[in-house]
Amino acid sequence: MFEKILIANRGEIALRVIRACREMGIQSVAVHSTADSDAMHVRMADEAVCIGPPPSSQSYLSFPAIISACEITGAQAIHPGYGFLSENANFVQIVEDHDLTFIGPTAEHIRIMGDKITAKDTAKRLGIPCVPGSDGGVATVEDARKVAAEIGYPVIIKATAGGGGRGMKQARNDTEIENAFRTARSEAKSAFGNDEVYIEKYLQTPRHIEIQVFGDGKGNAVHLAERDCSLQRRHQKVLEEAPGPVITPEQRARIGKICADAVASINYIGAGTIEFLFEDGEFYFIEMNTRLQVEHPVTEAIFGIDLVREQIRVAEGLPMSFTQDDLVINGHAIEVRINAEKLPNFAPSPGRISQYHAPGGLGVRMDSALYDGYSIPPYYDSLIGKLIVHGRDRNEALARLNRALGELIVDGVDTTIPLFHQLLAEADIQSGSYNIHWLEKWLDRNLPPKP
Ligand code: ADP
Repeated sequence: MFEKILIANRGEIALRVIRACREMGIQSVAVHSTADSDAMHVRMADEAVCIGPPPSSQSYLSFPAIISACEITGAQAIHPGYGFLSENANFVQIVEDHDLTFIGPTAEHIRIMGDKITAKDTAKRLGIPCVPGSDGGVATVEDARKVAAEIGYPVIIKATAGGGGRGMKQARNDTEIENAFRTARSEAKSAFGNDEVYIEKYLQTPRHIEIQVFGDGKGNAVHLAERDCSLQRRHQKVLEEAPGPVITPEQRARIGKICADAVASINYIGAGTIEFLFEDGEFYFIEMNTRLQVEHPVTEAIFGIDLVREQIRVAEGLPMSFTQDDLVINGHAIEVRINAEKLPNFAPSPGRISQYHAPGGLGVRMDSALYDGYSIPPYYDSLIGKLIVHGRDRNEALARLNRALGELIVDGVDTTIPLFHQLLAEADIQSGSYNIHWLEKWLDRNLPPKP
């Protein structure tokens, strides 16, 4: 049994992991940059170690600083949260070389799901359905045209090293593809230092549906149904719900089994998410995230389980505490991501919180590291909280979300809270009739960016 776990992260997710540790009787160690000395995760953990200056490259991403913090405090395992080092295979290798446990998959599993072309090859090999497209990278405009002729326009050119919704360009015909190809390559080069791109069929009205999987590292794995994360701005998720409003029990069982079998066959350990675009009843793989997701609480809500606790259990070599048959969906859950951003341009809005009041009551969960008087530093992600509601059905969850948003107070900085008040009044949101383009179109009409 681990006695002490170090959390290599900050903000709400660091709190999330500290809470699971405390319930399991495990000591927690927070790490922080000098910009985060007053952060909630530092206050809440049993111990805290300052690991460097504000830039993440010198603190939250620094291998030597984090490994030293483990050695100083005697932590036996590292939970990476999401982002930062959570999908860094080299880091996992170094953690293992120091006889520490990484709470997550192996370096090898992170690598085979790492860059997008490798991930797609792995998915195909494991029997997961993929978006039609090029076999691997595409080097010239002529090759791009050949692939497009085979799969048909429109197509999307994507950076192999892409992430965070960047490095993607669409083309509707043979003329547009030249420009799209060159722009995607140069953007990929400057954003990721790697100009390799590949081509996929551009799906016109898909939903983003992702399957939560979980493995014990010994060949057993389950799926925990899907999350619908179609409400996106610039390919970034804004609201997530589980189960998906349009997924039938048959579709869920079919894709869920494919995903669970795939990860079981490679002895995958811990939490993972297999992301799909879903159109006309078919699922098309886009990527796999080998970590806990920001939106994991909606899955926890409908199954009544603690995914972080399970991650810690399997990392210790214990079995999962449920089987596929135990996993029965109960009700409906919705999460909204609250960012410190100023509408309508979504410009980051760091600063001091003059008043914070979290909503409460039945079926309401607020995951946030805010407190009265806290100063949001300008160096990190703008996510400051996640409001998650659970109801017996989707309508009850929507009513509860509306009610809880009304109770939430975050004063002193601009936030995206007003956006959700407006969205909840929309008939399409109330009925669940939206796809991955819905929000961008709505924003163009209702909250156009100011020049
Ligand atoms: P990233 O890793 O940068 O988030 P993904 O491959 O996960 O990139 O894609 C992010 C989003 O981009 C998807 O949720 C979807 O909205 C859009 N997208 C990606 N591939 C396609 C495609 N083939 N057709 C249409 N939209 C796509």
